Amino acid sequence: METSKVYYTTFRTEVGRSVLDKLKKLVLEAGFDEIDFKNKFTAVKIHFGEPGNLAYLRPNYAKVIADLVKERDGKVFLTDCNTLYVGGRKHALEHLDSAYTNGYNPFTLGCHVLIADGLKGTDEALIPIDGEFVKEAKIGRALADADIIISMNHFKGHESTGMGGALKNIGMGGGSRAGKMEMHNSGKPGVHQELCISCGACRKNCAHGAISFVEKKAQIDREVCVGCGRCIGVCPVDAIHTFWDEANDVLNKKIAEYTAAVLKDKEHFHISFVMDVSPNCDCHSENDMPIVPDVGIFASKDPVALDLCCTEMVNRQKANKDSALGDVLEENHCDGCGCGSCDYIQMLHPTTNWKAAIEQGVKMKIGSDKYELIEIK
Ligand code: SF4
Ligand code: SF4
Repeated sequence: METSKVYYTTFRTEVGRSVLDKLKKLVLEAGFDEIDFKNKFTAVKIHFGEPGNLAYLRPNYAKVIADLVKERDGKVFLTDCNTLYVGGRKHALEHLDSAYTNGYNPFTLGCHVLIADGLKGTDEALIPIDGEFVKEAKIGRALADADIIISMNHFKGHESTGMGGALKNIGMGGGSRAGKMEMHNSGKPGVHQELCISCGACRKNCAHGAISFVEKKAQIDREVCVGCGRCIGVCPVDAIHTFWDEANDVLNKKIAEYTAAVLKDKEHFHISFVMDVSPNCDCHSENDMPIVPDVGIFASKDPVALDLCCTEMVNRQKANKDSALGDVLEENHCDGCGCGSCDYIQMLHPTTNWKAAIEQGVKMKIGSDKYELIEIK
């Protein structure tokens, strides 16, 4: 596997020069203009921010990228898929409410915001791939229909995947509801019977006749269910749930395989913001204190090398001893000096295996585990 180039810039800047200018310079140096955007639908895959969590990327950064695409006559839009969990982004209406509240709207961005998998997370395209676990990925239709994918992600820790970077943004974030279920478990939901109010909406919307009622409570026949996820989206009381029971290394491998599906036959480009590095996923309605100081903005055409590089750069920072990382340094015999010999991400989430995503990304030929780091001033 070839060595990939990863470009980065720090958040240091002189008086009168915005970090937005540095972002623009960074992506241009990193090969943005090697993509022909003219008349191409360009999806900027981003996380619009869970209500209450303040670690999401400011829309100002996204506007820089949207403007660059528009200046090159591309047809740009910002997008994400609905979530599997109950929060502020479970269907397109509340997802757009969250995006607008957090400043992502056509007036601030100069482009449209689309929810890639539609109103209830079921507008999907089936992408055949030759994965170890996934043979037909279910991804948001708008992502599948796009000609070019640009990923912008906030790099942070994650309680199931260890780190959350480009692969997670594209793979998990690009999955429809059924796709996300396939990554998180065998792909079939269950019913919290105590919450069910017997409204019948799930049975009415199940095209496979998998739902019946026993003592006025819905139940799902897992032999008949095909994991389409429609019932989750229509339940008015969130009684239908997924099982979060996939082994963490398999979860990471499936995410890498889904990333391969989203990027299949498309040009793509990736930007990671290693700032406000919270210990947990951005799906939380809070973000705990950063575990290390802000590192910089990273860009690459290779999402695998980018994730590897960002993780290693986090591990090379001085630990913030007042953060959740500080709580686990002592038991790991680490003084948090940032010499790079300790894996902070693994320490924070010891049951996870972030390297599985890197290894599977290499196997799927979407990137390299070798990189050259180039600083842009
Ligand atoms: S996931 Fe789809 S097939 Fe399974 S019970 Fe729900 S609606 Fe029916
Ligand atoms: S949609 Fe929800 S509340 Fe209605 S019957 Fe199904 S599980 Fe029960």
